[in-house]
Amino acid sequence: MKTLHTIADIQDQITLLKQKNTCIGFIPTMGALHEGHRSLINTAHQHCDIVIVSIFVNPTQFAPNEDLDRYPRPFEKDQEVLKNAKVDILFAPTETEIYPTGKHKTTQIILPYLSKKLCGKTRPHFFKGVLMVVNRLFNIIQPTMAFFGEKDFQQLTIIKRMVTDLVMPIQIIGCPTIREKDGLAISSRNIYLSPSERRNASTIFQAMQAAKIQVSQGQISAKKLTQDIQLMLIKNHFKVDYVTIVDTTTLTTVKTVKSGDRILIAAYMGKTRLIDNLSL
Ligand code: AMP
Repeated sequence: MKTLHTIADIQDQITLLKQKNTCIGFIPTMGALHEGHRSLINTAHQHCDIVIVSIFVNPTQFAPNEDLDRYPRPFEKDQEVLKNAKVDILFAPTETEIYPTGKHKTTQIILPYLSKKLCGKTRPHFFKGVLMVVNRLFNIIQPTMAFFGEKDFQQLTIIKRMVTDLVMPIQIIGCPTIREKDGLAISSRNIYLSPSERRNASTIFQAMQAAKIQVSQGQISAKKLTQDIQLMLIKNHFKVDYVTIVDTTTLTTVKTVKSGDRILIAAYMGKTRLIDNLSL
């Protein structure tokens, strides 16, 4: 595996790969790699000739009060994970490489319609930062396909929309959420949970599954389903940010559930904000 830190170095490689018509699979990450990231890499290997992973803890998607400084950065361990997963190139740029004119002075891409709702209400800066960095990484790497987790469903939807709106020749592949044995979606932020918080955290998955069972038994009222989920979360010490059932293309809340709609949840366990979702 080659580890490259500069745009010039990775673009030299990309030029060679493009000359050979190589199918390039790309997975942007913030590091602290886990089974969720590994599953994206495995899927990329199934579809592409070459797999490139980036590790960049993107400052523009963190608000000043968020966890940018304490976000885990186990770089050597991540390199080992990527080598074992047979990744071809790791791109690990510095902040000045990605934002040479300063992170507040760079061109922005905004998609207000999808970015302001759900997670965008609590984290208004977040999707602007994500779109800024993903767009820049896409232009540097020019992947044939890019792989994103359904775990971050709003992010996946927004990136698909950016690619469509800006006519980018990149196929976006959504990959299923990888979970711990008790159902908690694996996340780099789960390490912030204390042992008792960790035990309660799996309630999110249990509550979504209970809703799915209700739907299979004929319940179609989104209000009833989301109220039940909220109650279960509150009983298990969560502070709920939102629980909603949405149409997956527009992310608008539905009143009556139809097949393919999705439960989306964001809730705090102690100070840790967890998000998850499940297709109905
Ligand atoms: P992150 O490093 O948290 O920015 O995540 C990088 C990519 O991995 C994103 O596309 C995430 O949606 C995806 N991802 C994170 N956790 C999981 C998971 N548990 N299952 C599947 N994909 C995940």
